[in-house]
Amino acid sequence: MSTKTVWIEEEIASLKEAGLFTSIRTIDSPMDAWVTINGRRMLNFCANNYLGLANHPRLRLAAQNAIDQYGVGPGAVRTIAGTMSLHIQLEQRLAEFKRAEACISFQSGFNANLAAIPALVGRGDVIFSDELNHASIIDGSRLSRAQIIRYNHNDPDDLRRKVVETKDFNRRLIVTDGVFSMDGDIAALDEICVVAEDHDILLMVDDAHGEGVLGEGGRGIVDHFGLHGRVDIEIGTLSKAFGVVGGMVVGKKVIVDWLRQRGRPFLFSSAMTVPDTAACLEAVNVLEESTTLVDRLWANAAIFREGMIQLGFDTGFSQTPIVPVMLGEAPLAQQFSRRLFEEGVFAMAIGFPTVPRGKARIRVMNSAAHSSSDLEQALETFGKVGQELGVL
Ligand SMILES: *Cc1c(COP(=O)(O)O)cnc(C)c1O
Repeated sequence: MSTKTVWIEEEIASLKEAGLFTSIRTIDSPMDAWVTINGRRMLNFCANNYLGLANHPRLRLAAQNAIDQYGVGPGAVRTIAGTMSLHIQLEQRLAEFKRAEACISFQSGFNANLAAIPALVGRGDVIFSDELNHASIIDGSRLSRAQIIRYNHNDPDDLRRKVVETKDFNRRLIVTDGVFSMDGDIAALDEICVVAEDHDILLMVDDAHGEGVLGEGGRGIVDHFGLHGRVDIEIGTLSKAFGVVGGMVVGKKVIVDWLRQRGRPFLFSSAMTVPDTAACLEAVNVLEESTTLVDRLWANAAIFREGMIQLGFDTGFSQTPIVPVMLGEAPLAQQFSRRLFEEGVFAMAIGFPTVPRGKARIRVMNSAAHSSSDLEQALETFGKVGQELGVL
């Protein structure tokens, strides 16, 4: 008998023992405020579907119409098979929406990072990276072969110290998440921008959780701080508030032009599919026409957060619709999530390595799709389970 995978079985067993094994639920319905799991309707607080666009009638219709006109697939990578007018339209509309010079789309936000970072820095260069940056930033940075210097989480003073201390590098890049996805705090991008300008360093922000959430009508973190033209590269995702799947880089035209030449996931992986692209275009239309969904998202998040604080929960430092419910040890968080699930509320426990050890939590994702009775029901259930498990 072969023994070469025994170590994997052992690793999995130890994950299970530590309460860190992820089991994935199967959803038998559209992604929405309520989802069907094992034949049961569940109140959903897991999705990054901030605006309820994942199952929006206008996006569904746009995707269906585009399939009738263009089929489903892009055929190959864009540099070989040519690019569809839909992709060009999406990029133009996104650049306008974001009030930026130019935009290039990718298959995902993850890929946007893998494309942008290695295209901008390489061996002999340096990246200053927030210690809590997303895995795709970390992987993109590693792929670049530049030296990575981590600065303390959201600490512009520590960043400045490290920039001043660091000599002998060729090109330099500062990179930060816009909204940190596990805590829901917002990067001090205005102060980070000053550090970048004082030292003439390229500045990149990954706005995955700010896209469609922060700024006027969801235009993102650069709009939130009024930093148009001062942040060189904005990474975005179309998989969260936009409700579909895809990624983007927006910023100076010269950088976007460069990524069309040197962004490896652009050159070596096929483009977004037709229905994805058309649905994203319609998402931009929906966002540009009205701020109703964004306003409702923030109102819902405020109701939920204040309700949880009143119940006595620790909701951490969130400044956004991401509300962490801090519980401490991973097994407690898992047990809490299981009990919520039995009570009809789907909310995920998150533990190491996604968050530090001892900082396990339930991460609640608020959405414009929730009604006020949904929120009441969620608060009631959290209160009940919190008391039962001795958290309150
Ligand atoms: C979710 C996320 C991504 C990945 O986006 P996808 O479009 O799902 O690949 C990248 N960066 C950050 C900061 C994220 O939160």
